[in-house]
Amino acid sequence: MRTLVTGGAGYVGSVCVERLLAEGHTVTVVDDLSEGHRAAVAPGVDFCEGNFGDLALLDAVMAKARPEAVLHFAGSTLVGESMENPLKYFQNNTANGIALLKAAASAGVGKFIFSSTCAVYGEPATVPIAETAPRQPVNPYGASKLMMEQAMEWQTQATGMECVALRYFNAAGASENFGEHHRHETHLIPCLLQTALGQRETFSLFGTDHPTPDGTCIRDYIHVSDLAAAHAQALRSGISGPFNLGRGRGDSVREVIAACCEVTGQKISIAEKPAREGDPPELVATVAKAAEQLNWHAEITNLHEIVETAWRWHQDYPDGYYA
Ligand code: UDP
Repeated sequence: MRTLVTGGAGYVGSVCVERLLAEGHTVTVVDDLSEGHRAAVAPGVDFCEGNFGDLALLDAVMAKARPEAVLHFAGSTLVGESMENPLKYFQNNTANGIALLKAAASAGVGKFIFSSTCAVYGEPATVPIAETAPRQPVNPYGASKLMMEQAMEWQTQATGMECVALRYFNAAGASENFGEHHRHETHLIPCLLQTALGQRETFSLFGTDHPTPDGTCIRDYIHVSDLAAAHAQALRSGISGPFNLGRGRGDSVREVIAACCEVTGQKISIAEKPAREGDPPELVATVAKAAEQLNWHAEITNLHEIVETAWRWHQDYPDGYYA
């Protein structure tokens, strides 16, 4: 299939592009490299450097690539930053996302696959969370993604365009060649592994008095290669709607710290800090819908295995894509 991928130079996008190529799809990547890295784009891709919110560029890329499907990974993804700069999130994730959806619809694209997030649920009343749970985001990041989901739902209803919202829980791990490298790293596992590598003196543990058994936040960590497989399945399927992508089990921050210490063989220095604003205590997916309708489930079910792949990548590429 001819695909157009936004954010294909980013963390999840790069691993997904690798998978699409392996499955024989044709891939055009649009990425402005503000977060992504040129070296993260696999060979064999038609790469276009630019912002997906640039309408003239989009028209030109649509005309050249003639995509049958758009996979939309690009966006702003940090809860903390969204609390400080909400309009960046509504501009990049909502306004520009809708412009992309409109350009895709105008170009006759039949399928649109969107990287959504468990942050659309906010602080759910019950965990694990089903796709039918109320969507009540507690931060601008989740709210900006929810508005995009709603635009897609109405577009499907009005036109029959297939729109799939893949609600990632916590992406983690690496493929052999592509891993997690943010210019300003704030994510749990890379921060821990950078501390193990001696690149940070101390790891800051945000929040130890959450209403969870050990007081730290619980998240559902899902391997990035499993996320890529879910996109490939969504591309094959003829369905629309939201799907949770997780392992269906939660690990606390303290459990992730323990796994990182074991995998790296290092004693990681920890500084306990106040909770980060906007962090819900517990987010774990129910995964039945994806299993039934996408024929997808996480292949890597063990947290240690996820951390091992990330550790291998961090050791192979200690400077990430700057190497
Ligand atoms: N976290 C932490 N220290 C860090 C980074 C993250 O304690 O340096 C915690 C964070 O507060 C949250 C969990 O780890 O409870 C997962 O955070 P991450 O940023 O990886 O993903 P999020 O769930 O915010 O999307």
